[in-house]
Amino acid sequence: MLTPPSPAHPAPKPLTRRNFLTASAIAALVAAVGSPLVSAVPAQAAWGGYQNGYIPLSALSPIPWASQYRLRTDAVDALIAMNVAFRGSFGHDLPINDGYRDFAGQVAAKAEYGDEAAEPGTSNHGWAVAIDVGDRNHYRLGFSHPFYFWLKSNAAGYGWIHPGWAEPGGVGPDEAWHWEFNGNYSGGSPAQSEATVEAIVKAPNGTIVHLAYGTKTNFGSAEQYNNFRMQVNTLRSLGATDLMPLPELSTVPGVTWDTFTFLTQYIGAPAS
Ligand SMILES: [Zn+2]
Repeated sequence: MLTPPSPAHPAPKPLTRRNFLTASAIAALVAAVGSPLVSAVPAQAAWGGYQNGYIPLSALSPIPWASQYRLRTDAVDALIAMNVAFRGSFGHDLPINDGYRDFAGQVAAKAEYGDEAAEPGTSNHGWAVAIDVGDRNHYRLGFSHPFYFWLKSNAAGYGWIHPGWAEPGGVGPDEAWHWEFNGNYSGGSPAQSEATVEAIVKAPNGTIVHLAYGTKTNFGSAEQYNNFRMQVNTLRSLGATDLMPLPELSTVPGVTWDTFTFLTQYIGAPAS
């Protein structure tokens, strides 16, 4: 007889073909995101014999899910591949707020944003190799947004980098939303899978927590976690194919509060 977990500690939603981060994966993730941007080679500037901001639109390609914005074709190809992986994590396209900016557009941006905008004729938006990323409502991305963490972990694999000047403490304005293509994308998709990343971890206070995009579930005790795990196993043995097995309690990684906070942001689980 299957009894549901007590209402005070609701069970996680069905766990459909998702990857739980292992302890070593969490360590690698923290190291990757926390490391300096050694691969942040500046974006390729001049190309094609054009002048910055004077590239004919016919020489550029639209971003398929945000076709009002255009980029150099290889930058779009890399962005499309990255977007496949992004969709796998978040279930929607990467929100785009800007792409190629012609000279007049750069003059307008300078007038509107002042020191926050590049001198007209110098922006990588004028070379059609930069994008501005938004949150789902197209507000400018912040440094604590899950999309920023995702990009920091994944974008370099597609040749997209966050330039050092735009980092907090960099020489330019701090712009979490500004990303540039540095021409290093070699084709193919380095994404491991399109599975959504989730984690089951043990917080420093002993609570076992399931983190997923948009949801967070605390298990009240080890016993409750084990009971829920057994119920999932029973349902699977009865033929349920939409449930994935939960890790054994002894393999649930313990994490520090710093790592816990990082994972919560990275995965996009609620902060509280
Ligand atoms: Zn920008």
